[in-house]
Amino acid sequence: MIQGTPPILQLNPWQQSLAQSVTDPAVLLQQLDLPKSLLPAARQAAKLFGLKVPLPYLSRIQKGNLNDPLLHQVLPLGDEFIHVDGFNHDPVGDHDAMQSPGLLHKYHGRALILATGACGIHCRYCFRRHFNYAEANPAKQQWKQALSHLREDDSIQEVILSGGDPLSLSDSRLAELVSELEKIKHIKRLRIHTRLPVVLPERITSNLCQLLSNTRLTTIMVLHINHAQEIDKSVKNICHQLKNTGTQLLNQSVLLAGVNNSVKSLRDLSESLINCGVIPYYLHQLDRVAGATHFEVSDQEARQILQTLNSQLSGYMVPKLVREIAGENSKSAL
Ligand SMILES: *Cc1c(COP(=O)(O)O)cnc(C)c1O
Ligand code: SF4
Repeated sequence: MIQGTPPILQLNPWQQSLAQSVTDPAVLLQQLDLPKSLLPAARQAAKLFGLKVPLPYLSRIQKGNLNDPLLHQVLPLGDEFIHVDGFNHDPVGDHDAMQSPGLLHKYHGRALILATGACGIHCRYCFRRHFNYAEANPAKQQWKQALSHLREDDSIQEVILSGGDPLSLSDSRLAELVSELEKIKHIKRLRIHTRLPVVLPERITSNLCQLLSNTRLTTIMVLHINHAQEIDKSVKNICHQLKNTGTQLLNQSVLLAGVNNSVKSLRDLSESLINCGVIPYYLHQLDRVAGATHFEVSDQEARQILQTLNSQLSGYMVPKLVREIAGENSKSAL
């Protein structure tokens, strides 16, 4: 090392790729051949919740198409300033449900760790877009308090890593956490809720696959894919790699106006998921978070779409239509 040079934190290749994500609305518009007239509103809305699009995801967006279902999920719009009664900053009561910093234990038998505040992509409809991750970040205390809650409650058999996106953590940080969880006898299952395999497939490293293969815990990964166009060859490949680790793959989607609120779109999604070995698990009604009013689909429309899907697809290809209601002891079926 040259004298006086501070040690450089070595980033993994996937971390370097993630660091190249588009975060400037002007660059997004230019890369996708979209009109410059969208820029002022995009800049304003990006102040509410920053723009972030990794390049592999960007490459799946059709240039020049303002109605692209992937674009709609990431492009900041003036619509985010619309106020509608009932849309607020903590729609699912996370703040009240927090037992210790970063640990949510709402439902019997499973508890959720907010392992990190960072995400691989910023989805405009995200129900945690206003969440105070700085306050809730358990990584700060090395997950100590969350782990001691888990140790003390032997009714908890399943730990869910969520966030943010837990796969934003490095493989070594994840390995540390998993090894702490493995030491707790009553914990049998590890579930990872993540969108990173979809938006940045190279995140699925061989180290991560080894971790999933070798743990004594039963592993489940819940992906977050909203549209068939999000699934390309690279996503399909990593799904197969993940399956080879013995991990059960499920998917949850959010029902989003202008993205996937049609029978065709959801049928295509289910077919693509099954072709990748992923079972459609939940279709969520939007959590009513401030800034996302323009994504809402009425319950009536949602039920109608689901009814038609049920008449067209094998039972296992139809996700459960649910909503999260603060204070309930599970997700609520519609
Ligand atoms: C959604 C959620 C779960 C998982 O619920 P399942 O129905 O088991 O998928 C667990 N804990 C919290 C806090 C949740 O919000
Ligand atoms: S990846 Fe998940 S947590 Fe992150 S912004 Fe998107 S919806 Fe929210």
